[in-house]
Amino acid sequence: MNLSRTVVLTDYAAGPSVVDLRVPDLQPGEILVEVSAATVCGTDVHIAAGNFPQLATLPLVMGHEGTGRVVATNGRSVDVNGRDLTLGSSIVWAHPWCGHCFSCAIAEEPTICENTAGYGWGPSPEGRLNGTFSEFFIVSPESKVLRVSDRLDPALVSSATCALRTVMHAMTRIPRIRFSDQVVVLGSGPVGLYAAAVAVASGAAGVHMIGGPKERLTITDEWGLATCFDIFSSTHDERRAEILDRTVGRGADVVIECAGPAVAFNEGLDVLRRGGSYLVLGQAHRETVSVNTTGLKVRQQNVVTSLSAEIVHFHEAMSFLERYADRFQLAQMVESHHFNLDHVSDALAVMRSGEAMKPVIYPTYNNPPRKGDLS
Ligand SMILES: [Zn+2]
Ligand SMILES: [Zn+2]
Repeated sequence: MNLSRTVVLTDYAAGPSVVDLRVPDLQPGEILVEVSAATVCGTDVHIAAGNFPQLATLPLVMGHEGTGRVVATNGRSVDVNGRDLTLGSSIVWAHPWCGHCFSCAIAEEPTICENTAGYGWGPSPEGRLNGTFSEFFIVSPESKVLRVSDRLDPALVSSATCALRTVMHAMTRIPRIRFSDQVVVLGSGPVGLYAAAVAVASGAAGVHMIGGPKERLTITDEWGLATCFDIFSSTHDERRAEILDRTVGRGADVVIECAGPAVAFNEGLDVLRRGGSYLVLGQAHRETVSVNTTGLKVRQQNVVTSLSAEIVHFHEAMSFLERYADRFQLAQMVESHHFNLDHVSDALAVMRSGEAMKPVIYPTYNNPPRKGDLS
């Protein structure tokens, strides 16, 4: 176990490749993990395409979503819950926020830490094992870790280490969802689906999904959504009219934008009531969006953004999975496309095309397990 097969990006034009990296001796506070499952994020597609040249630093080990089993530790014996970290414990980990900068220490917003690059963003000098598309991964001393139940599917856990924990953090930044609330979710990718599931589980009176394509929305068939709009077969005006009709003309109490494109921002604002909360999680583009700021003020709408998450939000995410994974049939998100490390480029391609909702990479399998093999 001196070498790790690891996906490294050294050149945007050449794309990712698998290399054998030496597994170094652990520094104090580090944990060596064998990655059980890693999942592909839209962000990985952007990083590999060179769309974030200022934020990503080559060479880098790819992947920021994942879970794994403890192989060795140097001085870490318990997780944030006080549970023992022993050989074989399944864990998840937050990014290595420094804990010492203004954002971490004074503003108490470590997710905008000024001194850290997240896992999967590089740099990975001398093959540092700081990405999850790898047999082995090293959790840095700054990262807080949480043990997770072995009853949970590692692929689903991995998907929750980005999308669901992001939703859990975001939900703390607006007033709690009330039983009388009408909630609109824009976007039916993993973040949007998790946001809708969390809104339903929170007891919202009505949850309305705007997404697509139609096949993607079928996962919500049994969720009890109030309405589910396919953006490919409905217009902005039709969707707005129906949501206003269902909210006595006021608009939704809470809108959660998880869609991404610039156009989604104003669609969300258009269906938000006066004084409502607008949670912006999706926006990922280079356009400048024109907003009626006078209308925003007069309508006293609260626009709130949220980035990444702390370990407390991972804790909430894992608790949510334990209780609700079956209720919302969440395994559907991760069961369609499985890859080994040699096919990371294919995994990125099906993420980019939208063919897969959440491609899964099994770094230690030559032949990735199919549905049901892991149970
Ligand atoms: Zn992600
Ligand atoms: Zn910091």
